Amino acid sequence: MPEFCDVAVPVPLDMAFTYSIVPEAAPVVGGRVLVPFRQQRLTGIVVELHDRKPSVATKKIISVLDPAPVLDELLLRLGRWIADYYLAPIGEVFRTMLPLSAEFKRSIGYRLTEEGQMALHLAGMSGSSARSRRTPEEQAAEFRVLDYLAMREPAPGESDMVREETLRSAARISKSVLAGMVRKKWLVREDASAPQDATRTIKIAVLKSADGKLNENQRQIVDTLAASGGRVPVETMQSLDVPRTTLGTLVKRGLVEITEEPADFTVSRTKPRSTPFAFELNAAQQSALARLREGVAARKFSGMLLHGVTGSGKTAVYLAGMRAVLDAGRSAILLVPEIGLTPAVAADLHQIFGDEVAILHSALSDRERAEQWHRIKRGEARMVVGTRSAVFAPVADLALIIVDEEQDSSYKQEETPRYHARDIAVMRAKMANSVVVLGSATPSLETYFNAKKSKYALVELPDRVEQRPLPEVEIIDMRLEFQETGHEQVISRKLAAEIKDRLERKEQVMVLLNRRGYSPVVLCRTCGKKLECRNCAIALTHHKREHKMVCHYCGYMAPVPKACVHCGSEYVYFLGTGSEKLEELLHGMFPQARIARLDRDTVRGHEDFERTLNALNEGELDVLVGTQMIAKGHDIHGVTLVGVVGADVALGLPDFRAAERTFQLLTQVAGRAGRGQTPGKVILQTYFQDHYAVQYAAHHDFVGFYEKELQFRSWMHYPPYSALANVIVRSDKLDDALQWSGTLGKWFDSTRHEGVRVLGPAAAPILRLKRDYRYHFVLKSPSREKLNTTLRAMLAYAAQQKIPRTQVIVDVDALWLM
Ligand SMILES: [Zn+2]
Ligand SMILES: [Zn+2]
Repeated sequence: MPEFCDVAVPVPLDMAFTYSIVPEAAPVVGGRVLVPFRQQRLTGIVVELHDRKPSVATKKIISVLDPAPVLDELLLRLGRWIADYYLAPIGEVFRTMLPLSAEFKRSIGYRLTEEGQMALHLAGMSGSSARSRRTPEEQAAEFRVLDYLAMREPAPGESDMVREETLRSAARISKSVLAGMVRKKWLVREDASAPQDATRTIKIAVLKSADGKLNENQRQIVDTLAASGGRVPVETMQSLDVPRTTLGTLVKRGLVEITEEPADFTVSRTKPRSTPFAFELNAAQQSALARLREGVAARKFSGMLLHGVTGSGKTAVYLAGMRAVLDAGRSAILLVPEIGLTPAVAADLHQIFGDEVAILHSALSDRERAEQWHRIKRGEARMVVGTRSAVFAPVADLALIIVDEEQDSSYKQEETPRYHARDIAVMRAKMANSVVVLGSATPSLETYFNAKKSKYALVELPDRVEQRPLPEVEIIDMRLEFQETGHEQVISRKLAAEIKDRLERKEQVMVLLNRRGYSPVVLCRTCGKKLECRNCAIALTHHKREHKMVCHYCGYMAPVPKACVHCGSEYVYFLGTGSEKLEELLHGMFPQARIARLDRDTVRGHEDFERTLNALNEGELDVLVGTQMIAKGHDIHGVTLVGVVGADVALGLPDFRAAERTFQLLTQVAGRAGRGQTPGKVILQTYFQDHYAVQYAAHHDFVGFYEKELQFRSWMHYPPYSALANVIVRSDKLDDALQWSGTLGKWFDSTRHEGVRVLGPAAAPILRLKRDYRYHFVLKSPSREKLNTTLRAMLAYAAQQKIPRTQVIVDVDALWLM
């Protein structure tokens, strides 16, 4: 056995740490170990076993958690690649890849020291704190902690350690107070974190013997057990019409035994569809499927972009492809956007794949997630369907990865590690010699560019199923509407007339306004100031029904102001329109219509989303109002008119992806019109009627948009013509943010970075977010290698300058520059 192991620990540091191995424990590469790290116990992943004695003294590992690797060689390689590509700490990457936090119980405790006893004693004497630099509040908080610990009398055998949560709620203090007291040696902090068995168990009644005299109730239980092969869950027995004590009596007599067994995880709580799933593919779908199966059979890497207009039946191709992989005894992963995994989709998947499917969605608890992970690892579920992190599912013999709606922004993780699941999917497929399929009606520029450059095969599904026509789009210039009516209109005269017409014909309407809440801005007419969030440089949005002002970035809430908070003037105005107000306006205009709204305020989970869409499909609604969520709802049948009231707000933002996002949203929402046999119509209201994103969307011209946008990207050296990274320097103290970004700015100026353009430091478009002041740099380079070399050197310099690693965010391939 080697003497040492290198462990990737989940801390924001770009390295692994060396520990010495104790004789009784045998760690494995790719397995988890529990190790001491500073004052804590952490679980890390073993990345190497070796005999190279480090120059500094090493600590011993506490225990080995896995006798076999939880990350196989391929996933370890993928993790290292992510750490390298995204400049993310390796331990944090592995933590993200393994959803096993439920198997580890954190437990931090504190104990009073002699110095602490003394401090408590001195605090009782007057004058002793006269020279203290602490505020009276801080002193009072510390006193409460000392007092609580001193007064507590542990029961015999109980530890004199008090758990952090208990202490914090009893003394009403923050973590920083405790940290300060540990520094002064008044307290000792101990970490007793340990692995715990996270498997859920159920109690099973097992029949041991049926001999002996039994009364009627006992007979019933014994018969039930005998009829079920001698084993029945206790819970099921309790539904029998016998007293609960009867089972206990049988156990005492030794006729029945109760055992505990791991609960079989029930994957679905939904009923399967009554109609079986039929794979009836048209010619284009069939040829796409054939290409896919060919690639799988070849057992080497290939990529495919499946570009199909909305309603062209991409999903049927995915599912048929996965079915073929399953029949061949291999594995597949299907990634779907956050909003896509509704209960109906889950039911379809069970219908097709039975128990061989594992579904990983955001509503799973940590424990359920861990259970699913083990099912996949054991090879019980070869078909994995899930959102972003499902790309790390530990399947064996991976044949196929599909990324549905590959342009969807929910694939990008906006916290460390800031990876993009689509790009990870491509890399994983390369490493595993498998096929990756990227599907979309509106592919991202990068993906389409790669397909055109023959990095991926481009497979088109040009027609909607059953040859249904694409909707007609009419553009309404809202500047003209203003000139002609003399008012700022929310709903144009044309859109109002069309809605009225559809309602009379008993047809359904959808109206998109991509901004939630009632009014997005509250402005004072006296001093001209807006009401802003306390934590962010963002205007608070008025939510009328909740009667609150809400920050859409950090969730901060404030009462609705009656007067200006800056100058006290009563002339406060609520400006602009959000989806809540749009719904109210439509109610006023069409009082008879049944109207519902879909946005993050009305949808708390996938069930709400599906319920509203079902109501629409069942004909229980006339008008559906909503944000981009309505553009993403699949399976909408009866809508013949789509109104777009505000989808081009983004065109006014300082973000190079604004046109692309707007084009995608307009195309998606237009695709919801006219799915039935009735042709659809789209009324597109805009203030940017000449903008190419609006024009090309109106003509369903993806290629036209793509070429125009590529020209712009090429001139500006933006992706896909260069690799881009956004570096944000942040601090809750403005001085720190300014000083650190200045330090890095000087370093960028004074060192040579051949082939890398550095813009900044500049204030980020959102200067303050969640209490942090933010300055940023944008780095661009045609060479990803050069870009990453520069970023790595910058991080090393930042560390040397004692800028905390957590305050310098490196976002490689950033989706947002805000
Ligand atoms: Zn004012
Ligand atoms: Zn905020």
